[in-house]
Amino acid sequence: MKIITSPKEMQAYVKRARTDGKTVGLVPTMGAFHEGHLSLMRRARAENDIVVTSIFVNPTQFGPKEDYNAYPRDLENDSKMAEKIGVDVIFAPSVKDMYPQGYATFVNVERITEKMCGASRPGHFRGVATVVTKLFNIIPAHKAYFGQKDAQQCVVIKRMSEDLNFDIDIVILPTVRENDGLAMSSRNKYLSDEERRSALVLFKSLSMAKELIRSGELNSEKIRQKMLDIINAEPLARVDYISIVDAETLEDLNEIKDNTLIALAVFIGKTRLIDNIIIDQINPLK
Ligand code: AMP
Repeated sequence: MKIITSPKEMQAYVKRARTDGKTVGLVPTMGAFHEGHLSLMRRARAENDIVVTSIFVNPTQFGPKEDYNAYPRDLENDSKMAEKIGVDVIFAPSVKDMYPQGYATFVNVERITEKMCGASRPGHFRGVATVVTKLFNIIPAHKAYFGQKDAQQCVVIKRMSEDLNFDIDIVILPTVRENDGLAMSSRNKYLSDEERRSALVLFKSLSMAKELIRSGELNSEKIRQKMLDIINAEPLARVDYISIVDAETLEDLNEIKDNTLIALAVFIGKTRLIDNIIIDQINPLK
């Protein structure tokens, strides 16, 4: 497995692979790998000749008071895990490589970035769209893999990719969870034992929402209120948002229908966690 840090070298590598007729899969990440990341790499390995995983803690998607400095970084351990899966290249550029002196260009996806995580984290999706655009140009892959765990990010990247005519298939894979249901996240490392137990309220409230829908409750406000009750009963938890929206357009829904996204962000102590479920079809749920 190669580790490449230079964007120019990375671009040349992918161009060569494509000239040789090889298919390329890209898995963009911020590192500190867990099974969620590995599931994307495994799928990419199965579907492409060459697999590139990028590891870059992107400063432009963090707010000034967020955890950019504290974010876990462990390139050595990440490399070992990626190598075991058969990743061909890790692209690990420095901040200076990605945003050199004089850098001035940003990608702004409108409307769908203004709510949910975008409302709580102003500028976050501008940073995400910018870095993903740069990665798509540096690594012009056939397919790029993202996790449903970051539901709004998936919608934003699909929109951006279509709007900007990227010739890359966006593949979305399911959220990988711990045995008790907590969605895997690099930020789970911040949690104390007590917080780790409290963090289960995200999954519990989503599971309860699903149960309510199964039993015939389709009123979004009632479901939202019951989710709030569960989370508010947990002393260490503070709700940031609970959104019940169309999974494609992110428009608010008064009534649950097919393809509804229920997404939430909750502070557990100082750590902000997100999770979501998609209700594909109401009827078979009943
Ligand atoms: P991150 O390193 O947190 O930016 O995540 C890199 C990629 O892994 C993104 O596409 C995430 O959506 C995805 N990912 C993170 N956590 C999970 C998870 N628990 N299950 C599936 N995919 C995940």
